[in-house]
Amino acid sequence: MNDVSLRLTGVSKTYNAGSPGAVAVLRGVDMSLAKGEVVALVAPSGAGKSTLLHIAGLLDTADGGTVEIAGADMTGASDRKRTVMRRDKVGFVYQFHHLLPEFSAQENIVLPQLAAGVSRGIADARALELLDIVGIAPRAHHRPAALSGGEQQRVAFCRALANQPSVLLADEPTGNLDPATSDTVFDALMTLVRETGLSALIATHNMALAARMDRQVRLEQGMLIPM
Ligand code: ADP
Repeated sequence: MNDVSLRLTGVSKTYNAGSPGAVAVLRGVDMSLAKGEVVALVAPSGAGKSTLLHIAGLLDTADGGTVEIAGADMTGASDRKRTVMRRDKVGFVYQFHHLLPEFSAQENIVLPQLAAGVSRGIADARALELLDIVGIAPRAHHRPAALSGGEQQRVAFCRALANQPSVLLADEPTGNLDPATSDTVFDALMTLVRETGLSALIATHNMALAARMDRQVRLEQGMLIPM
Protein backbone atom coordinates (compact mmCIF):
# COMPACT_ATOMS: atom_id res chain seq x y z
CA MET A 1 0.00 0.00 0.00
CA ASN A 2 1.36 3.37 -0.92
CA ASP A 3 -0.51 6.45 0.22
CA VAL A 4 1.96 8.97 -1.15
CA SER A 5 1.34 10.26 -4.68
CA LEU A 6 4.46 12.39 -4.90
CA ARG A 7 7.56 12.50 -2.74
CA LEU A 8 10.51 14.83 -3.22
CA THR A 9 13.59 14.26 -1.10
CA GLY A 10 16.56 16.64 -1.03
CA VAL A 11 15.86 17.90 -4.53
CA SER A 12 18.47 20.38 -5.74
CA LYS A 13 18.92 22.26 -9.00
CA THR A 14 21.51 24.80 -10.13
CA TYR A 15 21.38 26.40 -13.57
CA ASN A 16 24.72 27.05 -15.27
CA ALA A 17 26.60 25.16 -12.54
CA GLY A 18 30.31 25.92 -12.44
CA SER A 19 30.00 29.20 -14.33
CA PRO A 20 30.04 32.71 -12.80
CA GLY A 21 26.33 32.98 -13.62
CA ALA A 22 25.39 29.87 -11.61
CA VAL A 23 21.91 30.09 -10.01
CA ALA A 24 21.14 27.62 -7.19
CA VAL A 25 17.35 27.58 -7.51
CA LEU A 26 16.50 24.52 -5.39
CA ARG A 27 18.67 23.67 -2.38
CA GLY A 28 17.14 20.57 -0.87
CA VAL A 29 13.41 20.47 -1.39
CA ASP A 30 11.53 17.91 0.72
CA MET A 31 7.83 17.33 0.45
CA SER A 32 5.27 14.60 0.16
CA LEU A 33 1.79 14.75 -1.20
CA ALA A 34 -0.64 12.24 0.28
CA LYS A 35 -3.31 10.63 -1.84
CA GLY A 36 -6.18 13.08 -2.32
CA GLU A 37 -4.28 15.98 -0.80
CA VAL A 38 -4.28 19.43 -2.41
CA VAL A 39 -1.32 21.65 -1.57
CA ALA A 40 -0.69 25.29 -2.51
CA LEU A 41 2.81 26.19 -3.61
CA VAL A 42 3.32 29.86 -2.86
CA ALA A 43 6.35 31.88 -3.90
CA PRO A 44 7.27 35.15 -5.56
CA SER A 45 8.08 35.15 -9.24
CA GLY A 46 11.56 33.84 -9.93
CA ALA A 47 11.73 31.75 -6.73
CA GLY A 48 11.78 28.48 -8.67
CA LYS A 49 8.16 27.27 -8.76
CA SER A 50 8.28 26.27 -12.40
CA THR A 51 11.62 24.56 -11.92
CA LEU A 52 10.21 22.58 -9.01
CA LEU A 53 7.01 21.60 -10.86
CA HIS A 54 8.97 20.56 -13.95
CA ILE A 55 11.27 18.34 -11.90
CA ALA A 56 8.31 16.84 -9.99
CA GLY A 57 6.55 16.20 -13.32
CA LEU A 58 9.61 14.59 -14.92
CA LEU A 59 9.92 17.34 -17.53
CA ASP A 60 13.35 18.25 -16.16
CA THR A 61 15.92 16.45 -14.01
CA ALA A 62 17.29 17.46 -10.63
CA ASP A 63 21.03 17.66 -9.89
CA GLY A 64 20.50 15.78 -6.62
CA GLY A 65 17.77 14.18 -4.54
CA THR A 66 14.95 11.85 -5.48
CA VAL A 67 11.52 12.12 -7.09
CA GLU A 68 9.02 9.36 -6.35
CA ILE A 69 5.70 9.18 -8.16
CA ALA A 70 3.01 6.77 -6.99
CA GLY A 71 5.65 4.78 -5.10
CA ALA A 72 8.15 4.52 -7.96
CA ASP A 73 11.57 6.12 -7.48
CA MET A 74 12.42 7.83 -10.76
CA THR A 75 16.07 8.50 -9.94
CA GLY A 76 18.18 7.40 -12.88
CA ALA A 77 15.15 6.14 -14.84
CA SER A 78 15.55 5.95 -18.62
CA ASP A 79 13.94 8.59 -20.85
CA ARG A 80 11.42 6.00 -21.99
CA LYS A 81 10.43 5.11 -18.44
CA ARG A 82 10.11 8.80 -17.55
CA THR A 83 7.94 9.43 -20.61
CA VAL A 84 5.59 6.56 -19.80
CA MET A 85 5.36 7.61 -16.14
CA ARG A 86 4.62 11.19 -17.16
CA ARG A 87 1.93 10.09 -19.61
CA ASP A 88 0.21 7.69 -17.23
CA LYS A 89 0.64 9.25 -13.79
CA VAL A 90 1.15 12.99 -14.11
CA GLY A 91 -1.29 15.69 -15.21
CA PHE A 92 0.08 19.15 -15.97
CA VAL A 93 -1.68 22.49 -16.32
CA TYR A 94 -0.10 25.81 -17.15
CA GLN A 95 -1.19 29.44 -17.08
CA PHE A 96 -1.95 29.15 -20.80
CA HIS A 97 -4.17 26.28 -21.97
CA HIS A 98 -1.99 24.92 -24.83
CA LEU A 99 -5.00 23.19 -26.42
CA LEU A 100 -4.68 21.97 -30.00
CA PRO A 101 -6.57 24.61 -32.06
CA GLU A 102 -7.80 22.33 -34.84
CA PHE A 103 -9.53 19.87 -32.48
CA SER A 104 -12.71 20.27 -30.44
CA ALA A 105 -12.77 20.48 -26.65
CA GLN A 106 -13.78 16.84 -26.44
CA GLU A 107 -11.13 15.71 -28.94
CA ASN A 108 -8.43 17.54 -26.97
CA ILE A 109 -9.35 15.32 -24.01
CA VAL A 110 -9.71 12.19 -26.12
CA LEU A 111 -6.33 12.36 -27.87
CA PRO A 112 -4.10 11.69 -24.82
CA GLN A 113 -6.32 8.71 -23.97
CA LEU A 114 -5.95 7.23 -27.47
CA ALA A 115 -2.17 7.71 -27.15
CA ALA A 116 -2.34 5.66 -23.94
CA GLY A 117 -4.23 2.84 -25.70
CA VAL A 118 -7.80 3.58 -24.53
CA SER A 119 -10.56 2.75 -27.03
CA ARG A 120 -12.37 5.61 -28.77
CA GLY A 121 -15.74 4.90 -27.16
CA ILE A 122 -14.37 4.88 -23.63
CA ALA A 123 -12.21 7.95 -24.31
CA ASP A 124 -15.22 9.89 -25.67
CA ALA A 125 -17.33 8.98 -22.65
CA ARG A 126 -14.61 9.96 -20.16
CA ALA A 127 -14.03 13.29 -21.94
CA LEU A 128 -17.75 14.13 -21.69
CA GLU A 129 -17.89 13.07 -18.06
CA LEU A 130 -14.96 15.39 -17.21
CA LEU A 131 -16.44 18.29 -19.21
CA ASP A 132 -19.70 17.77 -17.33
CA ILE A 133 -17.94 18.01 -13.94
CA VAL A 134 -16.48 21.41 -14.89
CA GLY A 135 -19.86 22.53 -16.26
CA ILE A 136 -19.11 22.83 -19.98
CA ALA A 137 -20.39 19.58 -21.52
CA PRO A 138 -22.58 21.63 -23.94
CA ARG A 139 -19.33 23.10 -25.36
CA ALA A 140 -17.83 19.68 -26.15
CA HIS A 141 -17.80 20.18 -29.92
CA HIS A 142 -16.43 23.72 -29.94
CA ARG A 143 -12.86 24.38 -30.96
CA PRO A 144 -10.71 26.35 -28.49
CA ALA A 145 -11.06 29.59 -30.48
CA ALA A 146 -14.84 29.47 -29.94
CA LEU A 147 -14.46 29.18 -26.14
CA SER A 148 -13.86 31.90 -23.53
CA GLY A 149 -10.53 32.00 -21.67
CA GLY A 150 -12.12 30.42 -18.61
CA GLU A 151 -13.73 27.66 -20.70
CA GLN A 152 -10.43 26.95 -22.48
CA GLN A 153 -8.73 26.55 -19.12
CA ARG A 154 -11.48 24.16 -17.91
CA VAL A 155 -10.86 22.01 -20.97
CA ALA A 156 -7.12 22.04 -20.18
CA PHE A 157 -7.91 20.78 -16.65
CA CYS A 158 -9.99 17.94 -18.11
CA ARG A 159 -7.22 17.04 -20.55
CA ALA A 160 -4.70 16.89 -17.69
CA LEU A 161 -6.99 14.38 -15.95
CA ALA A 162 -7.81 12.38 -19.07
CA ASN A 163 -5.55 9.43 -18.23
CA GLN A 164 -6.45 9.33 -14.52
CA PRO A 165 -3.07 10.51 -13.24
CA SER A 166 -1.86 10.05 -9.66
CA VAL A 167 -0.84 13.66 -9.32
CA LEU A 168 -1.82 16.98 -10.85
CA LEU A 169 0.83 19.69 -11.10
CA ALA A 170 -0.46 23.17 -11.89
CA ASP A 171 1.61 26.27 -12.57
CA GLU A 172 -0.59 29.28 -11.76
CA PRO A 173 -3.56 27.70 -13.53
CA THR A 174 -5.81 30.74 -13.22
CA GLY A 175 -3.05 33.36 -13.45
CA ASN A 176 -4.10 34.52 -16.92
CA LEU A 177 -7.76 35.13 -16.07
CA ASP A 178 -9.48 38.20 -14.66
CA PRO A 179 -10.22 37.93 -10.90
CA ALA A 180 -13.93 37.03 -11.20
CA THR A 181 -13.31 34.36 -13.85
CA SER A 182 -10.29 33.13 -11.92
CA ASP A 183 -12.49 32.34 -8.90
CA THR A 184 -15.10 30.34 -10.81
CA VAL A 185 -12.49 28.48 -12.87
CA PHE A 186 -10.61 27.67 -9.69
CA ASP A 187 -13.89 26.33 -8.23
CA ALA A 188 -14.17 24.07 -11.28
CA LEU A 189 -10.62 22.83 -10.78
CA MET A 190 -11.25 22.06 -7.10
CA THR A 191 -14.49 20.22 -7.94
CA LEU A 192 -12.66 18.14 -10.52
CA VAL A 193 -9.79 17.33 -8.15
CA ARG A 194 -12.14 16.45 -5.27
CA GLU A 195 -14.52 14.35 -7.38
CA THR A 196 -11.67 12.31 -8.82
CA GLY A 197 -9.79 12.00 -5.51
CA LEU A 198 -6.67 13.36 -7.17
CA SER A 199 -3.61 14.76 -5.38
CA ALA A 200 -2.50 18.17 -6.55
CA LEU A 201 0.33 20.64 -6.12
CA ILE A 202 -0.90 24.02 -7.31
CA ALA A 203 1.34 27.07 -7.63
CA THR A 204 -0.45 30.35 -7.04
CA HIS A 205 0.23 33.97 -6.09
CA ASN A 206 -3.32 34.33 -4.88
CA MET A 207 -3.46 33.89 -1.10
CA ALA A 208 -7.26 33.59 -1.06
CA LEU A 209 -7.05 30.61 -3.44
CA ALA A 210 -4.09 29.15 -1.51
CA ALA A 211 -6.16 29.30 1.70
CA ARG A 212 -8.78 27.02 0.12
CA MET A 213 -6.33 24.15 -0.30
CA ASP A 214 -5.56 21.55 2.37
CA ARG A 215 -2.22 23.12 3.24
CA GLN A 216 0.22 25.70 1.98
CA VAL A 217 3.99 25.59 1.49
CA ARG A 218 6.26 28.49 0.60
CA LEU A 219 9.31 28.18 -1.63
CA GLU A 220 11.95 30.32 0.01
CA GLN A 221 15.66 30.36 -0.71
CA GLY A 222 15.42 27.08 -2.51
CA MET A 223 13.57 25.20 0.23
CA LEU A 224 9.94 24.48 1.06
CA ILE A 225 8.64 25.86 4.33
CA PRO A 226 5.19 25.08 5.79
CA MET A 227 2.93 28.15 6.19
P1 ADP B 1 9.24 30.87 -10.98
O1 ADP B 1 8.45 29.83 -11.68
O2 ADP B 1 9.07 30.83 -9.47
O3 ADP B 1 9.01 32.25 -11.50
P2 ADP B 1 11.54 29.65 -12.30
O4 ADP B 1 11.62 28.26 -11.82
O5 ADP B 1 11.00 29.91 -13.64
O6 ADP B 1 10.80 30.56 -11.19
O7 ADP B 1 13.02 30.29 -12.26
C1 ADP B 1 13.81 30.32 -11.07
C2 ADP B 1 15.15 30.98 -11.37
O8 ADP B 1 15.91 30.15 -12.24
C3 ADP B 1 15.06 32.35 -12.04
O9 ADP B 1 16.10 33.14 -11.53
C4 ADP B 1 15.29 32.02 -13.50
O10 ADP B 1 15.86 33.11 -14.15
C5 ADP B 1 16.26 30.85 -13.43
N1 ADP B 1 16.10 29.91 -14.58
C6 ADP B 1 14.96 29.24 -14.91
N2 ADP B 1 15.19 28.44 -16.00
C7 ADP B 1 16.49 28.63 -16.34
C8 ADP B 1 17.33 28.07 -17.37
N3 ADP B 1 16.86 27.17 -18.24
N4 ADP B 1 18.62 28.50 -17.41
C9 ADP B 1 19.10 29.39 -16.52
N5 ADP B 1 18.36 29.93 -15.52
C10 ADP B 1 17.07 29.57 -15.43
